[in-house]
Amino acid sequence: MPTSDSRDVFDDAIKRLDRAFGYARIDEEALEKLKHPKAILQVSIPLRMDDGSLRIFEGYRVRHDDTRGPTKGGIRYHPNVNLDEVMALAFWMTIKCAVVGIPYGGAKGGITVNPKELSRLELERLSRGFIRQMADFLGPDTDIPAPDVYTNPMVMGWMMDEYSKIARRHTPAVITGKPVELGGSLGRDDATGRGAFYCIQELEKRNGWKPEEVRVAVQGFGNAGQALAGLLHEARYKIVAVSDSTGGIYEPAGFDVPSLVRFKNESRKLKAVYCHDSVCEVIDARQITNEELLTLDVDLLVPAALENQITAENVEQIKAPVIVELANGPTSSEADAALGDRHTLVVPDVLANAGGVVVSYFEWTQNKQGFYWTLEEVHQRLAAIMTREFNSVYDFAEEHGIDMRTAAYAHALNRIGTSIEALGTQHYFNEQTPPVRSST
Ligand code: GLU
Repeated sequence: MPTSDSRDVFDDAIKRLDRAFGYARIDEEALEKLKHPKAILQVSIPLRMDDGSLRIFEGYRVRHDDTRGPTKGGIRYHPNVNLDEVMALAFWMTIKCAVVGIPYGGAKGGITVNPKELSRLELERLSRGFIRQMADFLGPDTDIPAPDVYTNPMVMGWMMDEYSKIARRHTPAVITGKPVELGGSLGRDDATGRGAFYCIQELEKRNGWKPEEVRVAVQGFGNAGQALAGLLHEARYKIVAVSDSTGGIYEPAGFDVPSLVRFKNESRKLKAVYCHDSVCEVIDARQITNEELLTLDVDLLVPAALENQITAENVEQIKAPVIVELANGPTSSEADAALGDRHTLVVPDVLANAGGVVVSYFEWTQNKQGFYWTLEEVHQRLAAIMTREFNSVYDFAEEHGIDMRTAAYAHALNRIGTSIEALGTQHYFNEQTPPVRSST
């Protein structure tokens, strides 16, 4: 476990800023600002367990930067959650929102807990307890949470309800990813996977791919991994390997993804099955580990689980020529450099998984207006943003002969930089000319 003051993940994450700086029009002062989170709140959440005992859980919220708007980002429940990780995740949210041009800064939160060990009632009390401790730090125009690893729409619903009670007014816009019945947006459930799917469709067009010849491995079969695998399967891509936290399955002929999703969601187990009507039959497939999945001979690798999966230790064994990062931070900066040398095309997390926060933005605007969109409107608007920003980043990378991650960061820095500079930098304040010129 990292110590409470270790900053390894955060420091590794911000290394990407210096690399991108050379390609961005941003003042050094603005860059420096991004290396320091704006505000951090750490809380201890007492939880009365079902057996009457009391347990204390650690909770965190980091607001990284709010220059471009209120801060935005998910809340994660995981046994490995720690401040360093949450700081890095908040930083990635700032970059992500700027990459896709939505008016937010970045934040992230989490509780160090294994939610699988809690009962439903304990989980509800913990979620409400988190909000009671955090209420002053959050708000629809301050900081807006959303789901992340092991949190879901129902958890968001409890949190919105608790916040509304504290605020003494119905406040749906304080949190996104809520159940549709409580003000959630249509299309938020599969938005992260769908956003990545739109990126892959652009790759397909640009590279003349034939989907049925593209073999895909997906590490992580949670919300995002399942949604992307399902959309790729529908588009006739061959999903040859998937895994969850307990391990994976591999079948070169490809899986029937809807069967895997159905079985996983009914039994909580990942198994190679083919389902027709209500009967699921076990089919042949090789059992593999999560590490083996990453090194399979496939055309497209999708890390969709946690950070630091592709590292200096295994990067030499990675065979996929294209990686689409659906998880946050799956590749360490050292591994990045090695992938760059080998010309592996990496569609970075801050672009590839931005679909979730884009539809969160749609949910927030719908909550504020009290006017709700159809699923078609959500899909159309999401597709428009993802394809526009994917192509800007891709073109930027080609124009400068750089990798897509550096291009995405430079693209984001240009947006954040101009906002920071609009408030004045040393350069402006040292100018001798009269400070204010009338614009009329
Ligand atoms: N947790 C998601 C992410 O990492 C969604 C954040 C949001 O919707 O605010 O992008």
